[in-house]
Amino acid sequence: MADGPAAVVIDHIGLLWTMDAGAGDDGAQALHGAAMREVGAVQDAAVAFDGEGRVCAVGPRAGVRECIGPATEVVDAAGGFVCPAFVDAHTHLVHAGSREAECVMRLAGADYLDVLRAGGGIMQTVRETRAAPFAALLGQARESARRMLAHGVTTLEAKTGYGLELEAELRQLRVAAAVAEGLPQKIVHTAMPAHAIPPERRNDRDRFVREIVDMLGPMRDAGAEFADVFVEEGVFSVDEGRFILSRAKELGLGVKVHADELAPSGGAKLAAELGAASADHLLFATDDSLRGLAQAGTVAVCLPGTSFYLQKPAARARFMMDEAGLAVAVASDYNPGSAPSENFALVMSLAFFHLRMTPEEVFCAATRNAACAIGRGGRAGVLKVGLPGDLVVFAARHPTYILSHYGESQVQAVFAGGRRVYGEVATSRSRGSRA
Ligand SMILES: [Zn+2]
Repeated sequence: MADGPAAVVIDHIGLLWTMDAGAGDDGAQALHGAAMREVGAVQDAAVAFDGEGRVCAVGPRAGVRECIGPATEVVDAAGGFVCPAFVDAHTHLVHAGSREAECVMRLAGADYLDVLRAGGGIMQTVRETRAAPFAALLGQARESARRMLAHGVTTLEAKTGYGLELEAELRQLRVAAAVAEGLPQKIVHTAMPAHAIPPERRNDRDRFVREIVDMLGPMRDAGAEFADVFVEEGVFSVDEGRFILSRAKELGLGVKVHADELAPSGGAKLAAELGAASADHLLFATDDSLRGLAQAGTVAVCLPGTSFYLQKPAARARFMMDEAGLAVAVASDYNPGSAPSENFALVMSLAFFHLRMTPEEVFCAATRNAACAIGRGGRAGVLKVGLPGDLVVFAARHPTYILSHYGESQVQAVFAGGRRVYGEVATSRSRGSRA
C-alpha cells in the first residue's frame, strides 16, 4: 500500500481488470496464448494514484481506501468496469485527405492493384500529404487523436510513410510530436519510408531502397523508435525488407513488419528472423511462420478493422493463441485507405466477433500486449503499483457487454497520468465521502 495519502482514488469499481498476472509478474512482458486470459480480476475494487500520477495502490476497496487522506480526490466509478487505458499499437495517424471513393471501386469488384493503377491507394495519400500545409496535417491528426482518446486510447503508435522522401517523412514525425504536445496521449514514433514504392522509382528500386536506409538515421534522431517495412508481393520483397530492417537494427531502432496481409509473402518469417517487436496483419501467415514468431518473442498484431473494411478473411487469432502460443495484440491500423475509423471500441468488438477472442483476450490484446508491441511493456497497459495511472472507467459493468454493444462507446471517463483527461465522473474530496 501507499506511503501517505493518495492524490486520487477511483472508488466503487464493480469489476477491475488490472492485466497484472500476479506474484512475480512485473507487467513488462506480453502474455502468451492461454495466459492472455489472466486479467487480474478484482470485484468491488479501487485504484489510487499518487501525486506523481502513478498507481500507488490497487485491489479490493477496503485496502485501497486506507490511503484516502483529507485532500484525496475520490472518484465514484458507480459500480462500473475499469481497465488499463488502451494502447493502439498500429496507426498511420498523420495524413491528408480521405479515400472513400476506393470503397465504391472495391465493392464493384476492383482489387487493391486495380485501385493502385487508377491512381488511388497509398500514392494518392502520399501526394496529398506532401502537398498539405503543416497546420492542416496537424489539425487532422489532432482531431483523430482526440477521437481515439474518447475511446480510452492514451498511448498510440504513429507511423510515417506518406512522405517517402526524407523531408516529407521528417515532417510527418514532427506533426505527430506536435499532436502529443497538445494532448494527454503518449505517441510512439515509427519510421516507415518503406511503405510504398513510388511508380517513378519502380525502375530504380535498388537506389530507392538505399535512400530509405539513408533516411533512417535522421528519422531516429528526430524521435523514431521503430522502423517498419511493408513486405508484400508488389511492394517490398523479403530481401529488401531484410536489408532495410537490418540497417535499422544497427541504428538501434526496434523493427516491425507489415506481414502477409494480401498473400503469403514471407513477412512473418522475416519478422521472426530479425526478432521484430511485432509482425502486423498476418492474414496469410503460415502455421510455421506463426510458430516462429512465438519463439522469437514477436507480438502478433491483428487488425480486424482492416479485414472488415477490405472484406478480407480475419486473421487466425485462435490458431495464434491456441496452437502457436503467440502473444496477440489488436490495433486499429487507422489510415485513410483501409481502416478509416478512430473507433477503438469497434476494433475490439471486431476482435471479439471476427477474431473469436474471449473478452479477456481482447482486453489483454488492447492493453498489455499492445504496449509490448511498441516497446512500452511495463510502462503502459497494466495497472500495478509504480506504473502510470492510465485507466478507463466504463459506464457499463461488464466487458462482455462493452464488446457486444458494438459501435457505441460505453466510456464514462479516461485518466492519463493520474488525471482525468476525458469524460465526466462524480468526484468529491474525501472528507465526508461515503464509504
Ligand atoms: Zn499499417
